[in-house]
Amino acid sequence: MPNMKRHETVQVRVGHVPVGGGAPIVVQSMTNTNTADAEATAAQVVALCQAGSELVRVTVNTREAARAVGELVKRVRDAGCRVPIIGDFHYNGHKLLADHPECARSLDKYRINPGNVGVGARRDEHFAAICKVAVDNDKAIRIGVNIGSLNQDLVMRMMQKNASRGGKASDEVMAECMIMSALESTELALDCGVPKDRIILSCKSSTPRQLIGVYRELARRTEQPLHLGLTEAGMGMRGLVWSSVAMGILLDEGIGDTIRVSLTPRVGGDRCDEVYAAQELLQALGLRSFTPSITACPGCGRTTSTVFQRLAEDVEAYVRAKMPEWRRRFEGVESLTLAVMGCVVNGPGESKAANIGISLPGAGEEPSCPVYIDGKKVTTLSGTPEQLGAAFREIIDAYVSTKYQRRATHDPGADGRKIPEGA
Ligand code: SF4
Repeated sequence: MPNMKRHETVQVRVGHVPVGGGAPIVVQSMTNTNTADAEATAAQVVALCQAGSELVRVTVNTREAARAVGELVKRVRDAGCRVPIIGDFHYNGHKLLADHPECARSLDKYRINPGNVGVGARRDEHFAAICKVAVDNDKAIRIGVNIGSLNQDLVMRMMQKNASRGGKASDEVMAECMIMSALESTELALDCGVPKDRIILSCKSSTPRQLIGVYRELARRTEQPLHLGLTEAGMGMRGLVWSSVAMGILLDEGIGDTIRVSLTPRVGGDRCDEVYAAQELLQALGLRSFTPSITACPGCGRTTSTVFQRLAEDVEAYVRAKMPEWRRRFEGVESLTLAVMGCVVNGPGESKAANIGISLPGAGEEPSCPVYIDGKKVTTLSGTPEQLGAAFREIIDAYVSTKYQRRATHDPGADGRKIPEGA
């Protein structure tokens, strides 16, 4: 585990999940279904939970969506999944929550965007109305500031102040606006009776440097738990790299209590990718352990066959598919390490360093694949790629079922947190 000291925050419970106050950093995600379609949204919530999301947010943008929330939460619970569900409100949250008490009761937390909750005096009135519903229902809130929807009154005020005093670039002023919006809204929520241990903050920006600066300053100025996320991170590689660099730096400084990696999925892509990305980020920093880690070499001219790439992919997909079951049954299975290597140069060395490793033959090498378990060579596999895959999966299964202690269903997980049902 890393030595870094975590930024101290009060602890907020979202449903049964603690956030901040020294709790493990929480992975969260957001659905992209139409919330009014309770069946489809419930199915995606369960899928995200099974992938390892510990909190799931759904948009609540219309009366139809608000009406569907009760049913979708019931469907999720009926599926045996206890993951806390958060409502994401913009513009009309005060109305939707007041007009749909079942929606207000069913959700575990409300996200309020202080930049679009209303204009002028209406803004505070609407913000207070949401806070009242949160207090009446004993729910947590997230004050979720976003660079793209900042409170324009505040921006004008800060720009005028800067113009008269001069000095700061506009992106610095915008960063300060985000921080001010979060802090002033926290004061307002406290004045409305929301307890301190019911408020989480976020200030999302779309550029890593700005995000890092804003969160460092927030961490200096507040004790509320911080939700990290780079907004509009983008697709594929860009989204992953930009999110990882921004959040990785902050997490390594001990800043951040819950994270979401906002990836734009490809059409038909898997929404759960954002959960896997968040888990990998926390695991890479040694902050949490979610899933066995698989070391695979990048390949080079020494291995012209694609067998090792296919095997590495096959092993990754297999482990991911098995993890929901393994996590429930075997204590500590998250710490399993695997290696799938492409030739004799680093293959045996990396394979010996893993719990289970296989070193495939490079070009011109003898067509055999030594397998190592906990540093010792135990067998040599050969055959077609399919046969190799099947034999290696069997070895993994045997190792998991003999090396990790079986636990009773719903025992605390390795990190001490109750394992959500259905996860
Ligand atoms: S292990 Fe072999 S195949 Fe893989 S990158 Fe290293 S030299 Fe290339």
